Amino acid sequence: MTIIGITCLYEQEGQALLPHHYFRAVEKAGGVPVLLPPLGSEDAVPELVGFLDGLILAGGGDIDPLYFGEEATPATGLISPERDWFEITLARRALAAGRPILGICRGMQVLNVAAGGDIHQDIGTAGARVKHFQDAPRWYPTHAVHVYPGTRLAVILGERELRVNSFHHQAVRRLAPGLRAAALAVDGIVEAVEGTGRPFVLGVQFHPESMWERYPIFLELFAALVEAARRNRSPVKLLTGDGLAGIE
Ligand code: MN
Repeated sequence: MTIIGITCLYEQEGQALLPHHYFRAVEKAGGVPVLLPPLGSEDAVPELVGFLDGLILAGGGDIDPLYFGEEATPATGLISPERDWFEITLARRALAAGRPILGICRGMQVLNVAAGGDIHQDIGTAGARVKHFQDAPRWYPTHAVHVYPGTRLAVILGERELRVNSFHHQAVRRLAPGLRAAALAVDGIVEAVEGTGRPFVLGVQFHPESMWERYPIFLELFAALVEAARRNRSPVKLLTGDGLAGIE
C-alpha cells in the first residue's frame, strides 16, 4: 500500500475540502489517497510525514507574502493562515525527509516558498503576455508550455511541447535552492519546477487533476509520484502496517 497524502482547501472557514479529481487520479495511478486537513500542531507534522509515502500539495488561494518577507499588495487574493502554516511546515518536513512531492498550482508555489524561494504576487508584474487565468472549462488546455529537455518532467511526459490549463494570477519568481525550472510558458512564466537532487520533487503550475480524464498523459504525473513513493516507502509504516503487524 502506497499512501499519498493530499492537502485540502481551507479557504472556506470551517471546511477542509478537496475536489474528487485529485484523489481519483491517485487511486487510478495505483496509490492510496489520504486527505490531509490543516493540522495546527508542530508535533503532529513530523508524525504525519513519517506515515506518508508521498505528498500532493493541492491548488488553492494565495500564500501570505509574509512567508517570503513582503507586505501583501492590492493584488493579493484570499489567504488561509491555517493552511499556509500547515502546508509550508509539512513541505519543509517532507523535503527534509526525502519524501516524493507533487505540488499543483498553489502547491508548486508553496513548494518554492517552503524551500526558500519566492513568488510574484501578481503575474502582471512578471511580464505575463499569455492569459494565465482562463475562462474556458477547467479541463481545457488554453496555453502552451515548453518542457526543458533532460528534465524529470520531460522523461515523465515524453514530450517537449504540450498545452495545459491555467488558473493562476501568481507565479514563481526566485527559484529556491535545490529547485530548477522544468517548463516555461511562451511569455517566460515558470510552469513547472523540479528538484535537482535524487528525491522526486515536482511542481506544476497547471492543474493535471482537471485534465487527466480527457488527456491521459496528465495521469503520468500522478503515476510518477506513486511510483517514486512506492520505491521510497515510509519506514514507520513498514514497521507498523505491512511488515510486522501479524507477529503479535
Ligand atoms: Mn499558466
